[in-house]
Amino acid sequence: MARSEAAPALTLIPADDARRIVAETPPVGRERVTIGAALGRVLAEPFKAPADLPGERRAVMDGYAVRGADVRGASAGWPVVLAVAGTVPMGEVFPRGVGTGEAVAIATGGWLPAGADAVVMVEHTVSLDGGARVEISRAVTPGANVVERGEDLARGAAVLPAGRRLRPQDLAMLATFGVTSFDVHRRPRVAVLSTGNELCAPTETPRPGQVRDANQTALGAQVTAAGCDVTYGGIIPDDAYTLRRAITRMLDEHDAIILSGGSSIGTKDVSADALADLEAPGILFHGIDIRPGKPTLFARAGSKPVVGMPGFPTSSLIVFDAFIRPMLWRLGGEAARDPWPARRSARIGREHRSVVGREDYLRVRLVEREGALWADPLPGGSATLSNVVYADGLVRVDAAVPGLAAGDPVDVLLY
Ligand code: AMP
Ligand code: MG
Repeated sequence: MARSEAAPALTLIPADDARRIVAETPPVGRERVTIGAALGRVLAEPFKAPADLPGERRAVMDGYAVRGADVRGASAGWPVVLAVAGTVPMGEVFPRGVGTGEAVAIATGGWLPAGADAVVMVEHTVSLDGGARVEISRAVTPGANVVERGEDLARGAAVLPAGRRLRPQDLAMLATFGVTSFDVHRRPRVAVLSTGNELCAPTETPRPGQVRDANQTALGAQVTAAGCDVTYGGIIPDDAYTLRRAITRMLDEHDAIILSGGSSIGTKDVSADALADLEAPGILFHGIDIRPGKPTLFARAGSKPVVGMPGFPTSSLIVFDAFIRPMLWRLGGEAARDPWPARRSARIGREHRSVVGREDYLRVRLVEREGALWADPLPGGSATLSNVVYADGLVRVDAAVPGLAAGDPVDVLLY
């Protein structure tokens, strides 16, 4: 099990354990929003249908409301002729019922007059005598072309669970019932900052030995895409005291802090020191058995996650998607959600050797070849940024899998 390391080794925990630990993040509080500002917000209370939907029987076709019994046996050869008692005015109710031998013209969405139980599509009718009578050439059974009261939803039905990130159709449902303000979770406020003596801002020209800070931009974008508000905390030198002060200050006004760089255990890796005396429970793990992204640090100060991401931008990007994005969803109140909703089946383009116990994330490009879809692993390790840029997605090689042979079926986790 022991792997030889020059420096003292991180204590790696299995990826599954890391997922379990980050999933224990409690959600932020709630606030009230109006429906126009609710897209993408996370519902704090379950929503149950407050009434039947629709509230009345309605036509789902343009045509004539009839009593099904009156048109039984009607056909093109033997049409039935009914007296037209009038028209259901749109947005109003027909003032009387439909009697035997009668029909009432109706448009889609119109409330069915009392007595009628079906709608004959206008295509199966011919208006006679200037609209006074109608010839019906198709039989309809009761309920045809009609949506019954409560057919869409019965009053009390569970419609939207608490923890649902609201989609346009969810808002349509709330609007239908006149629910125009409701409680959602606050958007988590997340601070991102970079650590490293060698870093300069993207707006600066690096001196020899310097590199531009890419992670703050990347993490800020990922945090925003995960539905959180981001604060950019700047670049902090490799000094535990300075970093600790920056973190302590940010904890006051943020729900989570994500730093990158210095998360390993070299002499310039000060993140663990900086997090050492956070409020309990403090550091929950330091090192995950994954590639890339092994030196990932996760702590909680009270209920607030503090994450130390690996320094290489590619590692940070992948660890975020695999572990931190689901954590932020939970922080934002979202109930358990598939971390990789978009997947495609493909065959791996070449052999990949892994180690049992370690979870790997391959950057792959999707290519059609010989009538099949192939996931070709892109060259380069964690120090290579172009491979995540060229990648269409990731292939996760589970911890129990020793490797992949060329042509093995894989699930591509799409970007
Ligand atoms: P570290 O995790 O601090 O040992 O950093 C590993 C590598 O990632 C080093 O080559 C760093 O220069 C680089 N690195 C660390 N932070 C950043 C960053 N914010 N942007 C770009 N590269 C970084
Ligand atoms: Mg560093």
